[in-house]
Amino acid sequence: MKRALTDLAIFGGPAAFLHDLYVGRPTIGDRTRFFARLEWALNNNWLTNGGPLVREFEGRVADLADVRHCVATCNATVALQLVLRASDVSGEVIMPSMTFAATAHAASWLGLEPVFCDVDPETGLIDPDHAAALVSPRTGAIVGVHLWGRAAPVDALHKIAADKQVKLFFDAAHALGCTADGRAIGGFGDAEVFSFHATKTVTSFEGGAIVTDDGQLADRIRTMHNFGLSPERAVAEIGTNGKMSESAAAMGLTSLDAFAETRDLNRTNHALYSAELRGLRGISVHQFDARERNNYQYVIVSVDKTATGIDRDQMQAILRAEKVIAQPYFSPGCHQMPPYRRDPPVRLAHTEYLSEQVLALPTGPAVSSEDIRRVCDIVRIAVTNGELINAQWDQRMCRSS
Ligand SMILES: *Cc1c(COP(=O)(O)O)cnc(C)c1O
Repeated sequence: MKRALTDLAIFGGPAAFLHDLYVGRPTIGDRTRFFARLEWALNNNWLTNGGPLVREFEGRVADLADVRHCVATCNATVALQLVLRASDVSGEVIMPSMTFAATAHAASWLGLEPVFCDVDPETGLIDPDHAAALVSPRTGAIVGVHLWGRAAPVDALHKIAADKQVKLFFDAAHALGCTADGRAIGGFGDAEVFSFHATKTVTSFEGGAIVTDDGQLADRIRTMHNFGLSPERAVAEIGTNGKMSESAAAMGLTSLDAFAETRDLNRTNHALYSAELRGLRGISVHQFDARERNNYQYVIVSVDKTATGIDRDQMQAILRAEKVIAQPYFSPGCHQMPPYRRDPPVRLAHTEYLSEQVLALPTGPAVSSEDIRRVCDIVRIAVTNGELINAQWDQRMCRSS
């Protein structure tokens, strides 16, 4: 166990872990069941194009999200594109800058212009007042993001979308199985999008889904995601190939079978991190509203340099030397990334403040409570000696490189 400054790997101590510890490892579930499903698909000679496994997966995701329609896709980025295109969105799309680049890319790829909105400095969720202020005659849609699985302010955004007559969608990539005011995420706005990428809480290797209660929109998306082919198999409009395969659905179903267990483990992990780091100056573990259903997929800490003496990047480097691969989700904000930077730069004070502080720590079923205690020991030593570490930083980093 590490106790002193010199125990840290950046100060020459041995790394705390033998192998890299990642923010999220795939939640595969029972692989016997996965192989059984795959075998069944092969015997069934139906590998894609809306096969039985994809339909079963869509049904289960729709149930979980408490919506009438679900279209499974090859990933969430294409799902976002399908939603925007099938809703005839044009012009500008207002979205938080504090998100994964894919939210912005999906709009840009269609020739739409992302307009970045600031966030609440505590929660990282889209600020509805700022979103309302950004609405212009060119606005086609607002895309809210349920960052880290916490619900965006859905009611306020519904009101803005209705008042201003713009479409409203949600990037729910983090929010499978979560609620907003007790209502399942999935049914808000005109449509919502989930991701089943390998790093998400339920995985289908790569995958995504669009969920909505709007049957007409779902039908159009279904057509568009299969080359624009109508159910009668005639080309009805311009489409793309956004389909999910049977092998992906086999993984998705198996991962979904394990979802409740994954969520419970992640909740335990989150509680342990919170307890271990409680009271540590300058370190706060972002909490989830206990009245909501959460998936606890992310453990996010804020590192406040004014109190710790070291900044988030230094904390990340200290952890990395110990083979703890913590990730700055999401930093920088999209508005500061080269493709989206403007001259003069757009300033989003809360996004810039928060994105400099946040760090996602390893969790998921592959991380044990012993691992978490060791990660927290490292954070504790780093914070307790923050000023000293910072004073020696340049020297240290030169020597170790
Ligand atoms: C992962 C993620 C996406 C992209 O999902 P893919 O399925 O990998 O395309 C989009 N938005 C957010 C917020 C994400 O975290």
